[in-house]
Amino acid sequence: MRVVSLGSGSSGNALLIQHNGTNLLLDAGLSHRDLRVRLASFGVGDHDLTAILISHEHHDHIRGLAQFLRYQSCQVLATAGTLHALDPGPGFPCVRLVPGQAVEVGTLTIVPIAVSHDALEPVGFVLSDGLATAAIFTDLGTVDRAVYDALHAAQLVVLEANYDRELLVRGSYPWPLKRRILSSQGHLSNDECAATLARLDLSPVREIWLAHLSAENNTPRHALHAVQTALGGSDHRLAIRALPRCGAPVSWDSSTADSKARQIRLF
Ligand SMILES: [Zn+2]
Ligand SMILES: [Zn+2]
Repeated sequence: MRVVSLGSGSSGNALLIQHNGTNLLLDAGLSHRDLRVRLASFGVGDHDLTAILISHEHHDHIRGLAQFLRYQSCQVLATAGTLHALDPGPGFPCVRLVPGQAVEVGTLTIVPIAVSHDALEPVGFVLSDGLATAAIFTDLGTVDRAVYDALHAAQLVVLEANYDRELLVRGSYPWPLKRRILSSQGHLSNDECAATLARLDLSPVREIWLAHLSAENNTPRHALHAVQTALGGSDHRLAIRALPRCGAPVSWDSSTADSKARQIRLF
């Protein structure tokens, strides 16, 4: 399984997940032009997507969706609440996801997990190819038991580190917006992200991506420092990256990253 971040943050979120001919797009928050260019660079042309997963209806996750669907004939998978908010109208190629219930898409198994965020029915996702698992959670105000459990078996953990608390509180955002971001239905801070990771058994984890960093209230340095401090920096096998908002895509390939773990499982 290959996971590629095509963009992360309030300016637009999208990930590509590939495995044995299955091509999934998780969120379509970039412009349709950027999505097509970026997907093409990974060999995914028009009409090559197997499905599009949408985590929730906020603009930074669906910006390019409507126009993008002119170039892809695949179905859109989202919860009933998200589909309702998208208001797609008749003929929209959608499949309704139920949080906690696995679905098979191509060669991948996908489990949507409910998250606490100020959208109608937002979810994060656990994706598995039978050997490797990726857990992808952004846009959540708190980490509850279900999310924590979902992070447990993953080799790739993508977790939101939206803001540095001090930068947010001292920053220029109006107070109602600050209160929304800080709330349990807002976004995860660097410290909350770090505390969650510090509680995890990291032995199966090969790579951690810190995602959805705020342009105004965070920096990659702040996010990485918080997490590396919490984890103690002892495991040299564990790569930790702060995802860029745009720029060059970041990718993870389970076949190279986890070859050692595969051998242990196979023999
Ligand atoms: Zn978002
Ligand atoms: Zn959101």
